[in-house]
Amino acid sequence: MWTLVSTIAKLLDKGAAGERLTPEEGLALLESADLAALGWAADRTTRRLHPENYRTYNIDRNINYTNVCSAVCDFCAFYRKPKSPEGYVLDRQELLQKIQERCKAE
Ligand code: SF4
Repeated sequence: MWTLVSTIAKLLDKGAAGERLTPEEGLALLESADLAALGWAADRTTRRLHPENYRTYNIDRNINYTNVCSAVCDFCAFYRKPKSPEGYVLDRQELLQKIQERCKAE
């Protein structure tokens, strides 16, 4: 167990220092499933690349005119299968209203 923890810590240090990881090392990090440690390494990387004490963000909004989808991606909790009673399709008026709401908010 300690060997694995130590190995993952070394890989995180390597990545946070800006060194390239091999595909095998990247897979080891992915399989470690240690989200907190990955977040910590990501924060170290961000602070190394951008030491200034402020951050900027984009505000992004996708107006989905429908939640009906047949792709059925494993991670998605949004879609409803065709003919689902929870499926919706916005009409043009609803869609324009959502666009106008978004424009007013910015
Ligand atoms: S993410 Fe969801 S809505 Fe998008 S294609 Fe996959 S199942 Fe469809």
